[in-house]
Amino acid sequence: MHDQLETLLEMQDLHMQRRALDEGGVRELETGLFEMGAEQAIDALEAKITELELRLGKSNQERFRHLISTRQRAVVPVLAGVCYGCFVAVPTSWAADADPNDKLNVCQSCGHFQYYPS
Ligand SMILES: [Zn+2]
Repeated sequence: MHDQLETLLEMQDLHMQRRALDEGGVRELETGLFEMGAEQAIDALEAKITELELRLGKSNQERFRHLISTRQRAVVPVLAGVCYGCFVAVPTSWAADADPNDKLNVCQSCGHFQYYPS
């Protein structure tokens, strides 16, 4: 898998955990965070997000920030040739690659990062 894509997925996961904390739900949290209070857990998540962000190129970092703050997700799956950010069919040449996750794909229609669940 493309290393930036891996980082983006990890960051998205952390953002979702953070959102769950904001909404008062802690069930989705990793076991390691259970011992902490919500505020500490949010601090820990943000520190990890900041750390991961440093691995991204500047344009990916900006795109991620924009997407995660304005949409539900920054990275969306492509299932049966359809982008789950906008439900528009993805050009077939992309999906025909041996492993499309080796590239960092951005949807030409909605601008989300895309990944192909195996
Ligand atoms: Zn799309």
